[in-house]
Amino acid sequence: MNGPPPSAIDDLPKGLSLARYTAARLGGPADYLYIAKDPSYRDLLPLLDQAWKREMPTTVIGGGANILIADAGVRGLTIINRATEIKRVAEGNETIIAASSGTNLIRLARYCQENGLRGMEWAIAVPGTVGGAVVNNAGAHGGDIAGSLRRALIHEAEGGSRWAAAGSLAYAYRQSALKLRGSPPSFVLRADFAFARDDAAAIQRRMDEFNDYRRRTQPPGASLGSIFKNPPGDYAGRLIEAAGLKGFSLGAVQVSPLHANFIVNRSSDASASEYLALINLVRRRVQERFDIELELEIQTLGDW
Ligand SMILES: Cc1cc2nc3c(=O)[nH]c(=O)nc-3n(C[C@H](O)[C@H](O)[C@H](O)COP(=O)(O)OP(=O)(O)OC[C@H]3O[C@@H](n4cnc5c(N)ncnc54)[C@H](O)[C@@H]3O)c2cc1C
Repeated sequence: MNGPPPSAIDDLPKGLSLARYTAARLGGPADYLYIAKDPSYRDLLPLLDQAWKREMPTTVIGGGANILIADAGVRGLTIINRATEIKRVAEGNETIIAASSGTNLIRLARYCQENGLRGMEWAIAVPGTVGGAVVNNAGAHGGDIAGSLRRALIHEAEGGSRWAAAGSLAYAYRQSALKLRGSPPSFVLRADFAFARDDAAAIQRRMDEFNDYRRRTQPPGASLGSIFKNPPGDYAGRLIEAAGLKGFSLGAVQVSPLHANFIVNRSSDASASEYLALINLVRRRVQERFDIELELEIQTLGDW
């Protein structure tokens, strides 16, 4: 899909599988697929506006690290956000960095380390894009995106593009006003962050510690990271393990023997329905055993 940007939705490729665009390697086709690469979104905004005018459903995928896409796929226009740019926009007590929302989060964390900027260490091993992180309030090791975000540039069906201050986005644990927004989505175009300066070597040491911890505690392979949020005062992984499900398999998908809140897709033949069936089984067992209703951290997308 190189060459000049298409001017009409009907010129886009139809029926391409979305599985390769998700970390779980699962999911069916998009009716229309567009890979957005222009950091200023000149290619994308006319397509989005066209879709909204036609009342066509629109879906944006960043790194696909937190979504389970239905085997039947996603209706309407799906945008894979690969618009990448990091730039320094202001310097004062803190440094303001602007990132296009398709920027890989780990790349932003590395940029900060290389430039002696503190605040993104937690993200050194968190897959996905800046946009997905802003929507989910991604976080780890005691930090999260809300901790450094100043404002986000958002494009909406009604009203076009506008700046939203971080304080207006109702951030909480893996939650934001943008995540609750539904369809048509609020498309995050760009995010501005404020970072304090720090010693690059000290930042690197903290990143090394986080990387080591991940290697020891999280499984490699195709997964969506933590499936459930931790309930107040407890850990979803601990509850799933105590319910006897660590290592439990359903077809080709398995509750990780290393970390029970991870579900790993172990085969190219696995289906999203199988993955969801295992999620539901885990949820039921934990509910029966401990009377605790686990809440999904991941999102399901498409025609279920
Ligand atoms: C191995 C592994 C480890 C993980 N560890 C962590 C962790 O430690 N902490 C953590 O918080 N998460 C973790 N995750 C989950 C995931 O990395 C985060 O949720 C990440 O922020 C998802 O970003 P994404 O770009 O992949 O979003 P996607 O999965 O592509 O999308 C998630 C949601 O955001 C929406 N969205 C994406 N981009 C935009 C945009 N530009 N504008 C509007 N909406 C958008 C999508 O429509 C969807 O609803 C992990 C995942 C994996 C696979």
